[in-house]
Amino acid sequence: MSYAERALRTLSAGNRTLLRAQDEATLLQEMCRVIVDLGGYRMAWVGFAEHDEALTIRPMAHKGFEEGFFEIAHFTWAEGDSEDSRGPTSQAIRSGKPAVVQDTTKLSSSQLPIPLAETLRRGYASIAAFPLIIEGETIGNLTIFAAEPDAFDDCETGLLAEMADDLAFGIATLRMRERHRQSEETIRHMAFFDALTDLPNRSSVSEALTVEITQAQLENQSMAVLLVKIGRFQEISDTLGYQEGDHLIVEMGTRLRQIAGPNKSVARVGEDEFAIIMPRSSAEAAMRVAHHAMREVCDPVIFAGMAMDPHAHIGISLFPGHGNTPEALLRRAKIAAVQARRTACKYTLYKGTEDRESTRRLELMSELRSAIDQNELLLYCQPKVSIGSGEICGAEALVRWQHPQHGMIATGEFIALAEHAGLIMPLTRWVLEAAFRQSYAWYERGIRRPLSVNLSAQDLRDPRLIDRISGLFATWALPPELVQFELTESALMEDPAGALETLDRLKELGVELFIDDFGIGYSSLSYLQKLPVDSLKIDHSFVTSMLTNEGSAVIVHSTVELGHNLGLGVVAEGVESEALWDRLQALGCDTAQGHFVGRPFPTAQFDEWEAQSPWSHRPLSGATAH
Ligand code: C2E
Ligand code: MG
Ligand code: MG
Repeated sequence: MSYAERALRTLSAGNRTLLRAQDEATLLQEMCRVIVDLGGYRMAWVGFAEHDEALTIRPMAHKGFEEGFFEIAHFTWAEGDSEDSRGPTSQAIRSGKPAVVQDTTKLSSSQLPIPLAETLRRGYASIAAFPLIIEGETIGNLTIFAAEPDAFDDCETGLLAEMADDLAFGIATLRMRERHRQSEETIRHMAFFDALTDLPNRSSVSEALTVEITQAQLENQSMAVLLVKIGRFQEISDTLGYQEGDHLIVEMGTRLRQIAGPNKSVARVGEDEFAIIMPRSSAEAAMRVAHHAMREVCDPVIFAGMAMDPHAHIGISLFPGHGNTPEALLRRAKIAAVQARRTACKYTLYKGTEDRESTRRLELMSELRSAIDQNELLLYCQPKVSIGSGEICGAEALVRWQHPQHGMIATGEFIALAEHAGLIMPLTRWVLEAAFRQSYAWYERGIRRPLSVNLSAQDLRDPRLIDRISGLFATWALPPELVQFELTESALMEDPAGALETLDRLKELGVELFIDDFGIGYSSLSYLQKLPVDSLKIDHSFVTSMLTNEGSAVIVHSTVELGHNLGLGVVAEGVESEALWDRLQALGCDTAQGHFVGRPFPTAQFDEWEAQSPWSHRPLSGATAH
């Protein structure tokens, strides 16, 4: 067999190897094997040119007669006179061109990477080294030793160089394949794992649940889903910053993963929500895990040097009882988590009804929007009477919604719904317009009856609120004392500084302001003193119970005193009986509102109500509209 012939054979076998190779190590090894076994060379090796300080050439694979060669030989592709830098392999890497030694016996030791005797002892008579080049950069070498001198003529060298190029191409292809695989892996990971906690995210929990549900169906097993809602996340992010908020989430993720152990999976399914999936589990087992998780989760976490106790509540749903789709199980576990907030132990099993409730709430939200647009709301009012004189001294505007199918919807319910659905501003606009129209109707007839309008926390943040109100005063030419505003103490406390600013601007319009539901919002005395308000309205929960509950009696009593000390008027809401009226009168409370005085009714019926009410009429003031 001629040299060229064996080189050709090697080349074609090498090509087959290239096509088959799945990973780099096997490819290099197989290439060396083909060269030695089929080509009949004495030894072949592949090295990679490292970019370390010594510019080492690291042997990666070899085949053939070697006998400790790599233990004595050290290769570098650095420029220089040292033994390691000489020899064809270094040259090939440095120059990017094949380097051939036709007869090693004619060289001195200093021209070889190992002592001449060692080279000769191994029968390496001639050497050809080829660079492996990928995209213009030499990444390593393919070095072949032949037992005969002058083994590498031009033709053979050319063929082997081609083979080295093919090998480099094969390496490049495998590396590119690996890079693609890694980026696919990263993309897949990102799609299914949460970046912060590295836990599975909502999409993968849905997939995992689908698999578990199918499995549970096959095995006739039940399974549980726990939804852990972490409390105080928003508070911590807002006050200490996002990093601390993230720290809380990461810490909770770690704790939950530990609790869950290997048989249950934990996922992050919302900003501050985790799910634990418990295959083959009963309600009882789920409650035990919830109990355990609650204890662990509520252990203090250190934030910026200080310890804080996290809160959590956990809802549990079960397959098949609470649903047989991932969505239903997660949704119901979440509803249960909300229910759990109101329980002492803060975890609970899903209880059927609220789901239907929330579907109804969703329907109601969209119906409320159109009710506002289509003017289906009604304006009711409830009179206020001055306790000292028994005179009617005003009325509170209360919105009502008469639903075509469900009848009258509880006001508290749809106000909360409007707050939730971002519908407060259009609702307030409707109420304001209705209240101004009604006020004007009274005023035009010479009745000076202040009508008070309730504002929500969101109204206080509406930058157009003040302009809208002053526009209405201008439109109807109403004196400012005829329209008043009530703001709940808790709405003010949501953003005390912002609320103070809005109240100041409202006050500049000359209107009277009331703090509504006073006593349940925890405002501080110093804050209260700054507020430009005229009266406090004691929350009806204290008023209605003041005769039977000592605590309520103390609150009512001290609110009357506090209000008067601050120079404010005091209104009692929820005056349901004469006995309450008498007691409030004895305490010196200024104004009463409640069923004893009069229930809310449509504003248009005020005259009828007044005509048959025992309360004295205000003397008509001479002022009328122009
Ligand atoms: P609020 O401003 O404290 O209104 C007083 C509530 O107490 C009214 O409930 C009234 O019907 C009820 N009430 C009256 N007398 C008695 C009584 O003797 N005993 C008891 N237990 N309750 C009595 P309503 O009309 O259901 O309104 C609930 C809340 O909804 C209001 O509480 C107010 O905060 C809000 N709201 C009502 N209308 C509007 C509105 O137009 N805009 C806004 N933003 N909120 C409104
Ligand atoms: Mg009110
Ligand atoms: Mg109130």
